[in-house]
Amino acid sequence: MAVSAAVFLDKDGTLLEDVPYNVDPARVSLAKGAKEALAAFADRRLRVIVVSNQPGLALGLFSREDLEALERHLVDTLELHGFYYCPHHPHAGCDCRKPSPGLLLLAAREQGVDLARSWMVGDILDDVEAGRRAGCRTCLIDNGNETEWELTELRTPDAVAADLAQAAARILGE
Ligand SMILES: [Mg+2]
Ligand SMILES: [Zn+2]
Repeated sequence: MAVSAAVFLDKDGTLLEDVPYNVDPARVSLAKGAKEALAAFADRRLRVIVVSNQPGLALGLFSREDLEALERHLVDTLELHGFYYCPHHPHAGCDCRKPSPGLLLLAAREQGVDLARSWMVGDILDDVEAGRRAGCRTCLIDNGNETEWELTELRTPDAVAADLAQAAARILGE
């Protein structure tokens, strides 16, 4: 059943401007290059699946209902093929919080995604590591959000882009 390729996108700082712990659709805005990238992915019939750490749930900063309302808003307005999130506390030791690959593996199982033909795009190296651990190629949006640059082998991206439009050009240029 694994037939389709996907682009997995981090949400905050990659697809959307980073507004910490925001779940209000009215405060959502697309990151630079995101509109063009989504159009380009849609043109090529690529699945676009968001994978996001949402520790604000475990920290009690918003409810699951609030987050699911935001999810519906994003899936509808951006025509996403999925929105998968880790609801756990950063120290919970779960296997879905990036840099673990659990969200990507779950999405792949549910949607028949061929991970080896897929990409993970994010703005920090935890996104890169999650993608690599899932068996995807990876692209880092180098927009200043990564600050530690712990470049182990698993955290070294296949490509680096200034914004999501550049990432899309790199991915679709393959
Ligand atoms: Mg991010
Ligand atoms: Zn988790």
